Amino acid sequence: MDPCLFCSIIKGDIKGDIVYQDNSVVAFRDISPKAPVHILIVPRKHIETLLDLRDEDQGLIGEICCVASQLAKDQGISKDGFRLVANCGPGAGQSVYHIHFHLLGGRPFSWPPG
Ligand code: 5GP
Ligand code: ZN
Repeated sequence: MDPCLFCSIIKGDIKGDIVYQDNSVVAFRDISPKAPVHILIVPRKHIETLLDLRDEDQGLIGEICCVASQLAKDQGISKDGFRLVANCGPGAGQSVYHIHFHLLGGRPFSWPPG
């Protein structure tokens, strides 16, 4: 099985521009940013998609949302507004199968998303 890209970044085997990390969550800049601020927030635990979450992961997802809130403030995108997005499955455009939340900000966003 191929090594997971985000597990490799978390372990330090592949370089990532890490902006935050703690015992359960890591956040790093997207390599192909879609907004002036584009950070990926991931659990250290390898979970492939949102569909694979278990009851025991509830706290982890809460932590990720709290990290997103703090990073939005730290990165200066909280005042104008920002977006927190998790793509699930091919129809939604998920390309890396280790769950991640995109924190996007620094420009206006349209709704509905494409
Ligand atoms: P998805 O399409 O699965 O929702 O998001 C995956 C994201 O990972 C994309 O926005 C893509 O630009 C980003 N990405 C892909 N490869 C790398 C990489 O090697 N390093 C970083 N930092 N981001 C990556
Ligand atoms: Zn992984």
